[in-house]
Amino acid sequence: ESKRLGPNVVCRCTGDMVRAISRKHHIADILRTTLANDGFDTHYQPIWSIPKRRFVSAEALCRLDGTEFGSISPAEFIPIAEETGLIVDMTYLTLGKVCSFVKNVRDEHPDAPLECVSVNFSTILFMQNDLAERTLGIIEDSGIDPASIKIEITESTLVSNLDTARSFILTMHEAGVQFCLDDFGTGFSNISTILELPLDIIKLDKSIVWHASERERDGDDFLKHLISAFKAMGSEVLAEGVETESQRAFVERSGCSLIQGFLFAKPLPAKKALEVIGETGRRVRP
Ligand code: C2E
Ligand code: MG
Ligand code: MG
Ligand code: MG
Repeated sequence: ESKRLGPNVVCRCTGDMVRAISRKHHIADILRTTLANDGFDTHYQPIWSIPKRRFVSAEALCRLDGTEFGSISPAEFIPIAEETGLIVDMTYLTLGKVCSFVKNVRDEHPDAPLECVSVNFSTILFMQNDLAERTLGIIEDSGIDPASIKIEITESTLVSNLDTARSFILTMHEAGVQFCLDDFGTGFSNISTILELPLDIIKLDKSIVWHASERERDGDDFLKHLISAFKAMGSEVLAEGVETESQRAFVERSGCSLIQGFLFAKPLPAKKALEVIGETGRRVRP
């Protein structure tokens, strides 16, 4: 049986590989066209403050919907944008949009409790010599307070570009821009490195949140001690991926002060996100 299938298996694999490569090229083309037309959609996922009992900020997340492949997930198109280098202009475009969004909120909805918006910066950006200059240029041209922008850098980006990332963080921080360490728990960083950088927020990756909230029953409180250490150094700790009440209760007990998860809000188009954030400014969640 297996012998008879042998040649077929090889053929089928080759067909799948060809299709995968062609899909990738195709998505790269879609990204190029979308970029040329300023066509990326930016969604905003509201972030909940536990002590303030309302939404205080949001994360900007890129969307690629309505293509011939339907909606393409960031898990698929971001790596392609990185491989092709398109991520660089995509990020500047997204940052520009986020600055306009913040400017609009400040001008038109001065009472909205939105303190800041965060933008993801991927590893590839750290190979750009003019990264700090261009980033600051976009923020300053928009006329918003730089403190309204937070830049998210993943733990693995930080580890693999420590010197460049450190000098970028210090330069931008000087100008008032804030930083989040994203996907903490997935990148094997040296804790002392993290503690010495001015990171305003440490975002615990959802895998850590899910795992730790399961394990807590066994008395595993390592995470609580880690969170205390971050807080002692002046960082706030955010829990990503909170989907259930029991995860919410766990992260509250663990000392996190911010929550980003589907239990509170999904990533939403700008207008809708602002509505959701604005509502809690008036009506406190029970
Ligand atoms: P990330 O920066 O860690 O963003 C958080 C991801 O977690 C988002 O996925 C968000 O929708 C998802 N998420 C939030 N709460 C929950 C939850 O309760 N449960 C679950 N299962 N997921 C939750 P998304 O939008 O699919 O983005 C995935 C990744 O793609 C992001 O991870 C980020 O690394 C990357 N990405 C998205 N937009 C951009 C962008 O504009 N630039 C760059 N460089 N990367 C981006
Ligand atoms: Mg992020
Ligand atoms: Mg994250
Ligand atoms: Mg993540």
